[in-house]
Amino acid sequence: MKIRVGHLYPDYLNIYADRGNIAVLARRAAWRGHELVVDGVSMGDAVQRRAYDLLYVGGGQDREQALVAVDLAAKADAVHEAVAGGAAVLAVCGGYQLLGSYYRDRDGVELPGTGLLPLHTIAGQRRMIGDVLLDCQWAGRTLAGFENHAGRTLLDDVAAPLGRVVHGFGNDGESGFEGCRAGRVIGTYLHGPLLPRNPWLADWVLAQALAHATGGEPPELEPLPDELEREAHGVAAGRARARGGRF
Ligand code: GLN
Repeated sequence: MKIRVGHLYPDYLNIYADRGNIAVLARRAAWRGHELVVDGVSMGDAVQRRAYDLLYVGGGQDREQALVAVDLAAKADAVHEAVAGGAAVLAVCGGYQLLGSYYRDRDGVELPGTGLLPLHTIAGQRRMIGDVLLDCQWAGRTLAGFENHAGRTLLDDVAAPLGRVVHGFGNDGESGFEGCRAGRVIGTYLHGPLLPRNPWLADWVLAQALAHATGGEPPELEPLPDELEREAHGVAAGRARARGGRF
């Protein structure tokens, strides 16, 4: 099966190897006989209607977010339509913040968001940096990664977090939650990149994208020998346990 991915702003929003998430999805798809076809969708590019099974966006400094925010907001209708049509979305840090209603940066400048996720973000003065461990009860799994953000993300009451913070700061360093999940849309602060050390989430994202591609249910993907990935998860979780969530 071809899995069509729209990679939003690969030339602006890509820090902490966020681009690596695409490489992981491509390999894990290929090991199951599927092919990831990736289009870069950047400034002035249209999000072709119904063209993508998955939209992906990485993180970025305030400067890069300020450069793309208005252009992304202009794509909001097409992004909403893609999601309403069943496409999956994975958004990391700066990209995650711009899926909310707005991001107010450290200078108080309010960048428009797409309003896809029920949340908004306000930058604080101290950055929240370090390793993170999450408990994702909805999947019965944990996620491990790295965070570095000034933004404090506040979820609306209707919003569901991606996970409970076991170690780390998470969305705002207070709520005890991290990220946001709405159907096939996932937003998170976790860099690293995220997916090499969390193969279950990579497979979850692939299964959602395949469900859109086939018009069916998310398939049960054939298990892979993920020893190395599990080890990487263990190392990241250990670091989070040792020092996550401390200024
Ligand atoms: N610039 C945003 C912040 O500082 C996002 C940073 C990032 O993507 N790592 O919160």
